[in-house]
Amino acid sequence: NRQILLASRPKGAPTDNNFRLVESTKPEPKDGEILLKTIYLSLDPYMRGRMSDAKSYADPVALNQVMVGGTVAQVEVSHHDKFAVGDWVLNQSGWQDYSVSNGKDVMPLGKNPRHPSYALGIMGMPGFTAFMGLLDIGKPQAGETVVVAAATGPVGATVGQIAKIKGCKAMGIAGGAEKCRYAVETLGFDACIDRKADNFAEQLANACTDGIDVYYENVGGKVFDAVLPLLNTSARIPVCGLVSQYNATALPSGPDRMGMLMGTILTKRIKMQGFIIFDDYADRYNEFAQAMSQWLKEGKIHYREQMIEGLEQAPQAFIGMLEGKNFGKLVVKVNEP
Ligand code: NDP
Repeated sequence: NRQILLASRPKGAPTDNNFRLVESTKPEPKDGEILLKTIYLSLDPYMRGRMSDAKSYADPVALNQVMVGGTVAQVEVSHHDKFAVGDWVLNQSGWQDYSVSNGKDVMPLGKNPRHPSYALGIMGMPGFTAFMGLLDIGKPQAGETVVVAAATGPVGATVGQIAKIKGCKAMGIAGGAEKCRYAVETLGFDACIDRKADNFAEQLANACTDGIDVYYENVGGKVFDAVLPLLNTSARIPVCGLVSQYNATALPSGPDRMGMLMGTILTKRIKMQGFIIFDDYADRYNEFAQAMSQWLKEGKIHYREQMIEGLEQAPQAFIGMLEGKNFGKLVVKVNEP
């Protein structure tokens, strides 16, 4: 049973040294328990927060414990009357080959799901996050302009495509020309601006000719600086994530912009609201799942995965994601089904 443990807490960007791969004996399920073999492991930006012991909405991973993570697994041994050998499930097994569960908090995915790994992405946590944040907090109206960064990742890509379904103008922001091209040509964004371009703020202003009505906040930092002056009166900002800040060890240098931020919120009557998907919306998962499976069936939503082979690759893939090296939903194939 290979496991990746949190070996030490990162200062700034995580490195390989923060992780340790160990071998342990395969756990044995007792009566009422199941043994789960991990097939797919999801890598998500929130894991950076769990590596840190700063106070947050969730407890950190303890040192020398298995890294947390959503997994799609198969039942290898069952002593539980609700699960049979071979069943697919969604679980939080973390970064390891095997885990034992009493079946609580394990979501069945059936005997033969068409795309089992989708439960970690478009049909799972990131898709649900995009859906609720945009529709419940962003409240986009047809004809409005919606802006989202990390536009080719699982959250941003879904936000942009739902915005189009709702009749909005969708403006993406992504890292590099290839991602921007994909956002426009495949995902259907009206435009996508490269956040790494020298004149990024100017390009964004030129693209948002009618200002910005909904800014779905995934990244913070320089992107938010460029968005702030473009916000329209009564704009909404669902605050979903701040990935540009997750490795930060101090506040950015430069002038204090807090006064400008508060002034904009006041004079433009901006509504800005943070949310944590399962804490705030757990009871609305079915509403999302129904809508999303319908859109997928109708071909209205495209979904891109980046599949990494092998558990031992997880640390590097995760470190890269925080710098934008991933292109699509990052999933590790841990074992063959
Ligand atoms: P992604 O797969 O999109 O990965 C993160 C992306 O962030 C990178 O690919 C990169 O995209 C972008 N990025 C990295 N560094 C920077 C930077 N310095 N400035 C701007 N962009 C940067 O992640 P997800 O779709 O899974 O998650 C998107 C956001 O949603 C994250 O902030 C995450 O924490 C948040 N989230 C929040 C939840 C909640 O409950 N509130 C639940 C799930 C996710 P690019 O190269 O294109 O810029």
